[in-house]
Amino acid sequence: MVSTPRRDLIAVRSHRIRLMLHGSGWLMVCLGIPWSVGFAAQGLWFLAVLDLLLALCGAIVVRSVRRDRLRLGAAVFVAYGYLFVCAVGLFMDVPDGTHPRSIHVFLLAMAFASYLVLQLEHRLLYFGVPALCMLTFLVLASSGIGIPLYPIPEEHREISAWFNNFSALACLFVVMVLMHADIRVRTALEAELHAGLENRQLEIHYQPQVDQAGRVLGAEALVRWKHPVRGMVPPGEFIALAEQCGLIAEVGRVVLGSACRQLVDWAQRPERAHLTLSVNVSASQLYEPRFIEATLAVLDRTGADPHRLKLELTETMLVHDVEEVMAKMAALRERGIRISLDDFGTGYSSLAYLKRLPLDQLKIDKSFVDNVLTDANDAAIARTVVSLGQNLGLQVIAEGVETEAQRRFLQDIGCLVYQGYLYSKPLPAAELEQFLRRREAGPGVATAPLPLVPAAPDGVPAVPRSSA
Ligand code: C2E
Ligand code: CA
Ligand code: CA
Repeated sequence: MVSTPRRDLIAVRSHRIRLMLHGSGWLMVCLGIPWSVGFAAQGLWFLAVLDLLLALCGAIVVRSVRRDRLRLGAAVFVAYGYLFVCAVGLFMDVPDGTHPRSIHVFLLAMAFASYLVLQLEHRLLYFGVPALCMLTFLVLASSGIGIPLYPIPEEHREISAWFNNFSALACLFVVMVLMHADIRVRTALEAELHAGLENRQLEIHYQPQVDQAGRVLGAEALVRWKHPVRGMVPPGEFIALAEQCGLIAEVGRVVLGSACRQLVDWAQRPERAHLTLSVNVSASQLYEPRFIEATLAVLDRTGADPHRLKLELTETMLVHDVEEVMAKMAALRERGIRISLDDFGTGYSSLAYLKRLPLDQLKIDKSFVDNVLTDANDAAIARTVVSLGQNLGLQVIAEGVETEAQRRFLQDIGCLVYQGYLYSKPLPAAELEQFLRRREAGPGVATAPLPLVPAAPDGVPAVPRSSA
């Protein structure tokens, strides 16, 4: 493999986030334990518990980072860090006329830190949380708001102010250094993705969707970035980046173009003409002003049959502007395109909206399918999604089906279409063709699911996954 100065930029970036979370986690543990013991010794139980929770959350953050669960670590750090500073600021460190408040300075460090650790999240979070921290800083800094239930003793106020200000500013400085480095890496990554698009490095893999009789009904198109140095980069590592740097529309056009060309190829062969393709659409794509025109233009250009195309939207898209999303969905359906609601059950869509949405399919999220056999709640959610789909006249498909036992459970509750490693991992077009031929080879093959493939992402090398 050729080595370039830009090697493993995504890994470098996620390494910084890990570093930040790791440091913050240990800081929470190291501050929480002694303070908790000190307060408990004085019988100040509220403060002792607050600090014990700080240490506990710190331990969770450290553990999450070690187990590569950066999103969980970031969520715990941001949520408890914010609550802790607010609680101390409102009930303990309340200005008394002589001494100003000081704990709120930590909110500045938290604002920058949360921007860094939440940058792969939805923009509502990665702009909203820092804005909330700054707003709270403003309120605590400019007013005497608070009820001094546990006031800091007079003799300790000055030293505590020095301690808080010094440590908060030191944290702020460290976060700023990390942010600066991160911005440089991010700029380089954007340039790489730009070049990747120009050099046609995006490749589409297809994961078959199968009915209860084992017949292939179609596939989901999943994009990969065939990076010249790092190999196959999974979408989880560059879709968010593409969204943030305004390249998602271009990525979407490439994926849709390939999917439509595949549909045209299938349409010319009677034995493949019934197959459908599902294409993922992310929120920022859907909200592009020219999304509908661009989508229809690709269909017109390629000559693909819109009735064979499904667009997968997610529930989270509905939080911004349901009316706009509904209007766009209606425009797409008018042209015959079908709409599937992906990751169903993980968001917070209201059932009232669901009834009004012009949908064709509900997709039970993999996170529920994973545990349908072991977790009563997940099984109940799967059942609810199926009966919801039945009542609304929608097809229900389960994703991430890995075992025959899961499939049987889903079939028993009325879910009759499946996608997952039980049948196949996502495959390049040529391998999908081989897969289809094998399934057609004989009735025995057509009904029996293929052996479980190794539970590793498709052709994706062991690059550390950035999950924050
Ligand atoms: P998704 O739409 O929920 O796609 C399903 C993901 O689960 C895929 O990961 C697929 O490879 C994986 N998967 C499917 N069956 C199984 C299974 O049985 N076991 C396991 N462990 N995993 C399974 P992938 O390809 O890494 O895609 C991740 C996400 O990236 C997708 O989640 C989708 O949200 C997004 N994505 C993929 N392609 C595109 C695209 O072209 N455009 C946009 N906007 N997003 C895309
Ligand atoms: Ca999907
Ligand atoms: Ca999904």
